[in-house]
Amino acid sequence: MPDQTYLRNLRNPSKENPLRILASACLLGHKCGVDGDTYGEYPSVLTLLKYDNVKFTHFCPEDFSFGTPREMCDIHGGNGLDVLEGRAKVLTASGIDWTAGMISASEKMLALAKENEIELAIMMDVSAACGNHVIYDGNRYADIKKYQIGMGVCGAQLHRAGFKIISWREYASLEILYSRIDPTHVIDVTAKDFNEHEWYKDYFKIK
Ligand code: SF4
Repeated sequence: MPDQTYLRNLRNPSKENPLRILASACLLGHKCGVDGDTYGEYPSVLTLLKYDNVKFTHFCPEDFSFGTPREMCDIHGGNGLDVLEGRAKVLTASGIDWTAGMISASEKMLALAKENEIELAIMMDVSAACGNHVIYDGNRYADIKKYQIGMGVCGAQLHRAGFKIISWREYASLEILYSRIDPTHVIDVTAKDFNEHEWYKDYFKIK
């Protein structure tokens, strides 16, 4: 979930002391998607590459544990935190249990975050690994696919350790981030975070 207060209080980074961001590798164009390709382009994140006062660390947890290409997987019986606490499982579309591998990938991602003194993570949403706001509730290939508010396993692992995370579609939060990185950036006040979008409010029945 975005934390705009935290973002507003981020320091102004410099070339000598850049802002340290951990990103889902696919958001930076790495071909680590389940089919061995990218998941398209994410300009809201890619735009940060042009700044010399930002230092990215990237990681694909599923590639780390399962390789690429690989099956799609989802969380069954809860969210990422439930997986970490033994109440839910990660299953592939064909039913293989990837719970242990996913937990181990989340531990590696947490180790990277600590080692690199990460100040913010920007993650892919809806992923059983990297999701940090909305994820599927069970198999995304079910006749009626369902969503839940919650984090994927790696999102939950980072969050539990106190790291702040936003997704590539938290546009209002990203506007604040851009302004911390580039003092000349004029914040687009019409930008919305994911939870302010009509789809989100309708689906989760939030007034
Ligand atoms: S969402 Fe996460 S696990 Fe999936 S391809 Fe991107 S970096 Fe890898």
